[in-house]
Amino acid sequence: MKRGMLGGLIVALLLALTACNLAESQTGDAQKGYVGLAMPTKSSERWVADGKNMERIFQEKGYKTDLQFAEDVIENQISQIENMITKGVDVIVIASIDGNTLTDVIKKAHDQGIKVIAYDRLIRNTEHLSYYATFDNFQVGVQQASYIEKKLGLKEGKGPFNIELFGGSPDDNNAYFFYDGAMSVLKPYMDSGKLVVRSKQTTMAQIATLRWDGALAQSRMDNLISANYSSENLDAVLSPYDGISIGIISSLKGVGYGTTGKPLPVITGQDAELASIKSIVAGEQTQTVFKDTRQLAEQAVKMAESVLKGQEAEVNDTESYDNGIKVVPAYLLPPVSVDASNVEKEVVETGYYSKEEIGLK
Ligand code: BGC
Repeated sequence: MKRGMLGGLIVALLLALTACNLAESQTGDAQKGYVGLAMPTKSSERWVADGKNMERIFQEKGYKTDLQFAEDVIENQISQIENMITKGVDVIVIASIDGNTLTDVIKKAHDQGIKVIAYDRLIRNTEHLSYYATFDNFQVGVQQASYIEKKLGLKEGKGPFNIELFGGSPDDNNAYFFYDGAMSVLKPYMDSGKLVVRSKQTTMAQIATLRWDGALAQSRMDNLISANYSSENLDAVLSPYDGISIGIISSLKGVGYGTTGKPLPVITGQDAELASIKSIVAGEQTQTVFKDTRQLAEQAVKMAESVLKGQEAEVNDTESYDNGIKVVPAYLLPPVSVDASNVEKEVVETGYYSKEEIGLK
């Protein structure tokens, strides 16, 4: 064979092999799967980060994704999930708005052979939920309340102190876990009189904040202050979420808290949202619970991949999350309590925010 012909043959062979490889990776990608990501709202940064993180990881692994945000409107979320079913996704990862409203649409997904994973918030009243990826929600409440306990010196016998309690959205299963966790620490002090709730509003039904709405919390705080604190100071506020904490702080500043003579109470929070981290650095909000959404996204992707491969996913809790029909196998990540003393270590050194972003020099 002439050298020129041989070269031509080799080139042709190489081209054929490359084409073959390309075709293989394309089918590979297509076969890898199509993932629906149903997030509750863009109005809180954490959900935007959760959605984007999952989208990125799934895409890097070669999956096709459909990411939707429902702006806290239940009907939007249901129709977004219905669209995902029509588009032919293989698995749907859902952070629900109202965990009690998805029974029918999840049944539809199941009937089409689509698997469902609950993301951060448990979905109730369905048997067709494969797994649940979340943080240790009881521990979130424990961390908020233990922070108050420590800051006020309750263990050392100090007190009595005035406290008011705020809860999360009554349609979110997590809200009860946060409340129960917090009460496991606070209740003994309330019973002994070392913590006084002057409004007497202490049950979840009395303190809940529909859709975690900061504006609602702000007006409830306005009412609590005008009805109960004309001659008394408020020493602590249990707040379950940063957006609620910011509303509470506005209300309190409006009536003169945040000055030398009248310092802001100890105020907890959750999610390490930028506004709250800045507020912590500025000395207003006292604490938040940092839940690294990058880790949760990774965990949910791992679960989805196992489900798609027909394998069992890694879980570390098979007892805590009964959704009314079954106990859903879950993976719980550890939350981290953050205040001014460890904010740099936890949220800057881990690359969650930059120093400049949070207002640290
Ligand atoms: C989440 C919290 C969040 C809250 C409000 C809860 O379900 O677990 O991280 O603060 O919803 O968005």
